[in-house]
Amino acid sequence: MSAETLVRIIFVFYAALFGIVIGSFLNVVIYRTPAGKTIAKGHSMCMSCGHTLAAKDLVPLFSWLFLKGKCRYCGAPIASRYAKIESLTGLVFLLTALLHTDTAFVLLLDGTGVFVYMFIYYVLFIIACTAVISSMMIWYDTSKSFMRLSLIPVVTGFIAVFVLSLMSSGGLSFFEISKRLMVWAGSVIVITLVATIAGMAVRKSFSMEEIGLDILFAGIFSFSYYLWFAKWYIAVPVIAVSYGLVRALSSGKAKRYSGIFGAALVIIFMLIVYFINK
Ligand SMILES: [Zn+2]
Repeated sequence: MSAETLVRIIFVFYAALFGIVIGSFLNVVIYRTPAGKTIAKGHSMCMSCGHTLAAKDLVPLFSWLFLKGKCRYCGAPIASRYAKIESLTGLVFLLTALLHTDTAFVLLLDGTGVFVYMFIYYVLFIIACTAVISSMMIWYDTSKSFMRLSLIPVVTGFIAVFVLSLMSSGGLSFFEISKRLMVWAGSVIVITLVATIAGMAVRKSFSMEEIGLDILFAGIFSFSYYLWFAKWYIAVPVIAVSYGLVRALSSGKAKRYSGIFGAALVIIFMLIVYFINK
């Protein structure tokens, strides 16, 4: 095995482990945000017997696996949902790390400083992904969206486009950087508007909760701006209409799944773009 392959494997492995730990934190966010509670840690105890849980019972995902989904003290079953969200977050981190292994590679071998920008971009994308996971689960539970979560992909997306504009070869003028940011912002607005209008046409109702969800997904889609780049003017209408359809069609009983459907669509688009660019 070459040193390069080893670096890539280590990077992906630690990203997945880190994702599982972050997933455990997201479980707290998903539970506490709609309840209006602060995300500070209290004592964890078994929901059935009330026994205070020790550190060994609280290792994300692995405790649940080793205890076979049962309480160590009373044997009552523990909901698999927490372990599922931890696995999902681990998987998202693993996938994004796989698509970004070049980041880890240049991190060690590239002396030019380009890696710093690539790494910042990667971290911003991961933060945006955690906001999407939390939001789609909160939407599933409560049909509510929270602007402070919805705006995370938009803010991180804005910084990512700015950072990648700075690293463009040859250096960009202030005018060119502003132009890229304007195009990016315009696409976020277009995707949000198309999705909102499509949804309203079907549901015949208007709600800030729905718009919050659309802003969230417009933000995460806009991360692929640099991947499409020259084709972005084609990509935005395609993305906006596809997402608008998914949101419009997932009304009624499917409504609570619309966050999850939206997230699946984001993943599909990201993978398509990745393989087009490969
Ligand atoms: Zn118990």
